Order: sequence, then structure tokens, then C-alpha cells
Amino acid sequence: MGLVVQKYGGSSVADAEGIKRVAKRIVDAKKNGHQVVVVVSAMGDTTDELIDLAEQVSPIPAGREFDMLLTAGERISMALLAMAIKNLGHEAQSFTGSQAGVITDSVHNKARIIDVTPGRIRTALDEGNIAIVAGFQGVSQDKKDITTLGRGGSDTTAVALAAALDAEVCEIYTDVDGVFTADPRVVKKAKKIDWISFEDMLELAASGSKVLLHRCVEYARRYNIPIHVRSSFSGLQGTWVSNEPLSDAKDQKVEQAIISGVAHDTSEAKITVVGVPDKPGEAAAIFRAVADAEINIDMIVQNVSAAATGLTDISFTLPKAEGHKAIDALEKAKGAIGFDSLRYDDQIGKISLVGAGMKTNPGVTADFFKALSDAGVNIELISTSEIRISVVTRADDVNEAVRAVHTAFGLDSDSDEAVVYGGTGR
Ligand code: ADP
Ligand code: ASP
Ligand code: MG
Repeated sequence: MGLVVQKYGGSSVADAEGIKRVAKRIVDAKKNGHQVVVVVSAMGDTTDELIDLAEQVSPIPAGREFDMLLTAGERISMALLAMAIKNLGHEAQSFTGSQAGVITDSVHNKARIIDVTPGRIRTALDEGNIAIVAGFQGVSQDKKDITTLGRGGSDTTAVALAAALDAEVCEIYTDVDGVFTADPRVVKKAKKIDWISFEDMLELAASGSKVLLHRCVEYARRYNIPIHVRSSFSGLQGTWVSNEPLSDAKDQKVEQAIISGVAHDTSEAKITVVGVPDKPGEAAAIFRAVADAEINIDMIVQNVSAAATGLTDISFTLPKAEGHKAIDALEKAKGAIGFDSLRYDDQIGKISLVGAGMKTNPGVTADFFKALSDAGVNIELISTSEIRISVVTRADDVNEAVRAVHTAFGLDSDSDEAVVYGGTGR
């Protein structure tokens, strides 16, 4: 029996009962002969509540102190979980990200892990302890400041530790039974996926399926760490995410589906730069200004310029949380770039269809657009990759559109409805 890393999300440890239930599961894994490292998130919606609190004292909280505040959430749950395990008669020690050796760059609020040196975790395990690590946090290599990895970052902590400790598997425990063909909160007839490739999971995660964070899947693929996504509320097998089906899954004759699923995302906004001179260098100047503010953009569209004016509009999408920063950066560069005005729209949503089979099935795009038009959904932006098609629509249309596309591609299950065990979906 080898080493397992188990990560428990906020909904799994939302209250004292949840912490005690999770403690029992952890102890069972230990009794089965595993060395167990646990990564834990903040309880329930604690992180959101801390953010709300910070916004009451400062309009746009950011930086060092904001990270210091947010990491407190995970410290609470790690200590309580270690206490609950001790209460069951087993030894446990909790560690902050810094103590666990999670070393990051110094970009506050969305730091990247650059090294993991889990010496203290190894020692704790060798001494027979269960090690509990606070997710979503690390310490910067140069300034030794506390950093956070961005929302949902505990998934990344878990996979990074699994890689550094050479774990057999990284188990991600959450409030649904695995990865489904769509968000079970939106599509009651979503189907659980038994196995999904890293490639398709990466696209789903990048398109908004927050059951796994994109960066965590990237990390797992790089180090070839199999992930098992499952519920902490049921004993069911979940979804295996790996390069190819593992032996268990192979018995179930799992093969790659043409379409893996439908993802949606309402966390983005759209900025339109109006009246841009249609000449070389303009797009470069706009996106340089945005990039220099350390903002990642997603989709881009440039309209055909009006012949009479020689002016065009450029629209792009970005995380809502970065909206203010992007507008500020563009306003500052307005003189140099020479556009007329900026429009900001945060009432948009994105729907994506993902599947490796798309490469070889030419009708997929047409069927996707037909399903949207039959549902009366208007498309504002389109982008594609080899294995994904995404569209931007009005935010109000998103749920309806996801359900329509799910049905049109034959993904609806005809048996059990997908169960959501907890969480507020916040
Ligand atoms: P945790 O607190 O455990 O990290 P998250 O809220 O981050 O949990 O992720 C689990 C949630 O992800 C589910 O409750 C579900 O609403 C959402 N979700 C979105 N897309 C999917 C999908 N394709 N399959 C499963 N869950 C999904
Ligand atoms: N608590 C953090 C968040 O809510 C990190 C995590 O749960 O993964 O984003
Ligand atoms: Mg999560």
C-alpha cells in the first residue's frame, strides 16, 4: 500500500459534522495501510465571506494582506481536522502551505507553485502521522511572503504534493459523485463519466467546469499523476482522470467518448474597445496594455472596419474579477492607442462543447449552433480549438443553452438523476 493524497473541498468540511465525517474517511484510508496526506480547503463559503469582509474595508482588496487574510480560512479547517482525527485515536499533524514546502512565485492572489519541498510532511508520515496540509497557499521564494494560488487552488496544492511525494493517486473529494457530462446543478440528467483523458479534462476545466481547476489538471498531466474525483458523501467510485484508463476502469471497457461534456462559465466579462484605427500595431498595443497589467484574456473578436471611417471595434473576454484593472490600464493607454471609448459588459456567459472526437466528426459545429438556435439563444462571440467549441451568449440564456446542447448531443442519462450532496454553488 502506497501513499495517497486526499483533498477535501469546502463543502465536504462545511461544519463540525462534516469535519468529523471526513476524519472517519481519512482514518479508514490509514487503517487500510496507506500513508495519508490530506489537503483541506476552507470550511463552506469561508473564503467568500473573508473576501466580502475585505471589500467592506477596502474597495478593491489585493496583494499581501489580502493573501494573509484568505489563508486563515484553510488554517481553521486544517487544525480542526487534525483534532477530529486525534479524537478517533490516530495521530495527525497540520501544516500551513509554507510549512509543507509549497514554494511559489511572488504574484499575490494568483501565485504559481515553483517548487515543493515536503521534508516536514515526509518526517510526519515516517513518524506514523496523518499529515494535514492547508490548501491554496504557499510562501514566495524571494520575499518569504504568504501567497495564495487563486480561487479553487487547493486542487493544485493536492496534485503538486502528490507529484512531490510520488503518490499512487490524488483523490479529490467534493460534493458530487465525479465529473459529469455537465454541471449537475444545471443539468439534472447529466451523466457521471467513469474515465476522462487529461486532454479533455483540461478543456472542460479551462471552460469553467470548476469541479477540477485547470492548473491542477495541467500539473497532473505534466507529472502523470492519476486523479480520482469522487464524493466525500457517498462510497461510490468517481471519475478517473489520467492518460489512459487504469486497470479498474479498463474492466468497464471505458473508451474515449466523441463528446465528453458541456461546460459553462458566467465568471467572465466582455470589454469592447470602440473606434480603433484599422492599421497595423493597434491590436498589439491594446493587448500589450492588458498583458502588462498581468491580466489573462480569453476570447477575442475584431469586427470588420467601416469603410467610411477606417475604424473598427475589438472585443475580448476576461475574468470579471480583473475588469476594473483592465479598464484602468486601457484608459491610461488611450492617448497612445487612439480609440474612441470602452464598453464593459458583465452580463455574459460562455458555453463550451468539449470532446476529442470533434477532430474527426465534421458535423459537430453545425449541430452545436443548431441546438442553440432551436433554443432561441443568440451567439455573440465564437472560439474554437481542435477539441472544443465555445460561444458567448447573454448570461440569462446560459442554463437553457447548456441543457439544450446536452440533449442535442445525446448526453442525457435515462436513469438516475445526478446527485448534489452539499455546497451552495457559490
Ligand atoms: P469543492 O468545494 O469540493 O472544491 P467545487 O464547488 O469547487 O467543490 O466543485 C464542485 C462543483 O463543481 C459541483 O458542485 C458542481 O456544481 C460543479 N461542476 C461544474 N461542472 C461540473 C461537472 N462537469 N461535473 C461535476 N461537477 C461540476
Ligand atoms: N478556499 C479557496 C477557495 O474557496 C481554495 C479552495 O477551496 O480550493 O477558492
Ligand atoms: Mg473546487
